Amino acid sequence: MPPPVAFPTRHWHLLEDGRVQCDVCPRACKLHEGQRGLCFVRARQGDEIVLTTYGRSSGFCVDPIEKKPLNHFLPGTAVLSFGTAGCNLACRFCQNWDISKSREIDTLGDAAAPETIARTASSLGCRSVAFTYNDPVIFMEYAIDVAQACHEVGVRAVAVTAGYMCAEPLAELYAHMDAANVDLKGFTDDFYHRVCGGHLQPVLETLEYLAHETPVWLEITNLLIPGVNDSDDEIDALSRWVAERLGPDVPLHFTAFHPDWKMLDHPPTPPATLTRARRIALANGVRYAYTGNVHDEEGGSTLCHACGERLIGRDWYVLTDWNLTPEGNCAACGTPCAGRFAGPPGTWGPRRLPVRLRDFAATPAGSSALRVV
Ligand code: SF4
Repeated sequence: MPPPVAFPTRHWHLLEDGRVQCDVCPRACKLHEGQRGLCFVRARQGDEIVLTTYGRSSGFCVDPIEKKPLNHFLPGTAVLSFGTAGCNLACRFCQNWDISKSREIDTLGDAAAPETIARTASSLGCRSVAFTYNDPVIFMEYAIDVAQACHEVGVRAVAVTAGYMCAEPLAELYAHMDAANVDLKGFTDDFYHRVCGGHLQPVLETLEYLAHETPVWLEITNLLIPGVNDSDDEIDALSRWVAERLGPDVPLHFTAFHPDWKMLDHPPTPPATLTRARRIALANGVRYAYTGNVHDEEGGSTLCHACGERLIGRDWYVLTDWNLTPEGNCAACGTPCAGRFAGPPGTWGPRRLPVRLRDFAATPAGSSALRVV
């Protein structure tokens, strides 16, 4: 296992009382010498804050891009997914708690240089790399370097995030991202405070920034927990806000909760709850509302908002219909479908392929016999 690293960072400042404040996320951790932030991976060393997980990963896997979930970004293509360790929120329902709550020494077994990740993605035919098993907010310097290396070989970069970040580092990170799925975990500050250990407003600011001030393709996920954040009123307020403040073209995924981490005492989300949420969102003007984590071909498919044609049929992660022109317009009426499309869909399907990065350490881009898309 490689030793911890200390990668220099720049979003922090010295306080008068001698502590150093991290300015990456609204937690604003104030650290004495040797202390780590709540995310555990940013730490004070001397009079600065360093990132201790640069160049190290908790594992790699090729997934369908729909699993992120992104339904309007290069549909059907493969994405090389990876994460590091730690998180800057403390969600009681975390579905990746083994990574997000780990002390990095437990999980960061893979050394992963940005160029090696880019080469691996290209060799495997992945159209994008996703920072996904934990939040790239806390390892932004590494994520930026990986994204730059990916762009050099024609691979795009995707952030899967809770969007809990301060304005200046947010702009720096997303200058290098091509797409994002942001978790909007609920629509009350009380929920964010009690269940996630954060606040709602910074997430809303992230969403508005991405939607209006960047070319980043944006989709939103809202995990519905029975009896906690699944009331008609909360779904109505959330989806109304998305349609009015972000615009009708931002896709909204309602996904099912499974009991995990510190919420083992709550039941899984019934499929009917997701269908109800989707109906409310569509009625509020969201053009692309989906159900997720359940088998629901109707709720997983993309319809033309003008004529109702099924543009992209989905059965789990299998594309069952494709009625888009190469430019991304409805084949029936010509209305553009919002998203990033590039010709015909990919053919990756539902597969999940674990990847050992060291197998690709010396492989020239594009030359692997494992090319799959
Ligand atoms: S990124 Fe980590 S260290 Fe920095 S403020 Fe957020 S939780 Fe604290």
